[in-house]
Amino acid sequence: MRKAQLEKYRRRLEQEQDDISALVRRSGHAIRNTRQDGPEDSAAQAQNSYSKEFLSHQSDTNLSHLSLVEDALRRIDRADFGRCQSCDENIEIKRLNAVPWTRFCRGCQESAEESDSQPSRRDF
Ligand SMILES: [Zn+2]
Repeated sequence: MRKAQLEKYRRRLEQEQDDISALVRRSGHAIRNTRQDGPEDSAAQAQNSYSKEFLSHQSDTNLSHLSLVEDALRRIDRADFGRCQSCDENIEIKRLNAVPWTRFCRGCQESAEESDSQPSRRDF
């Protein structure tokens, strides 16, 4: 891949990294804000634990997304970006443009999804 092209992906990934970091910080803050002591009726308690669960799930998703983005940035540094981590083939440019942090070509991603039904382990 040409250097100019790599730099384009790097800028996009760094932007993405900034955005998710901000989200992670914000949802961490929101989780702390839901942990308030004080008299509450059970409906408010249920609501509170629901939103805590929702927020911590959301920040898990953000964190795993963030680590994918950081991995991709490391691959740019190692000049290994754009190569499928499974079959070593080049990942389709169209796919990289849509999901620059992806680790797999479409074929490998699809077979991984077939054998792995857990949506949380997908590459988005
Ligand atoms: Zn592959």
